[in-house]
Amino acid sequence: MTGSIKILVKCPACGKSLMNPDVRLDDLPSIDLETKIEKKSGRIYLSQVYGSYNKKFDGVDDVEAAICSLFCPHCGNPFPVYQTCECKAPIVGFQLQVGGTIKVCSRNGCKNHSLEFTNVNDAFELFQSQDKTGLS
Ligand SMILES: [Zn+2]
Ligand SMILES: [Zn+2]
Repeated sequence: MTGSIKILVKCPACGKSLMNPDVRLDDLPSIDLETKIEKKSGRIYLSQVYGSYNKKFDGVDDVEAAICSLFCPHCGNPFPVYQTCECKAPIVGFQLQVGGTIKVCSRNGCKNHSLEFTNVNDAFELFQSQDKTGLS
């Protein structure tokens, strides 16, 4: 996994960090999101490693292929929907702390995700911000 990109994100609405150092995935702070899955409310934690699909559920069930409504745990705003995935679920976006957007499909188990930069310097900054050691 050397050279894996780590994604540190914040809420596009309130600007607060979504990283939770108390819940670790891939040995790193996780991305902490409030979620609603099939009428249950809870938390979903995603790995900050780009391309890792490790996640944790708290208070909600890991329902295969269910669409997760995702909200900011700080301000409660839903994350903006950018487009519709091939699987028909909404694709939502989180803001990268260095600039740019990570877009993920909200269907549990769908692996569709992408990074988007409106400014090429943001991409450069992301790569610069990666530590040199990577994950071993
Ligand atoms: Zn927020
Ligand atoms: Zn999808």
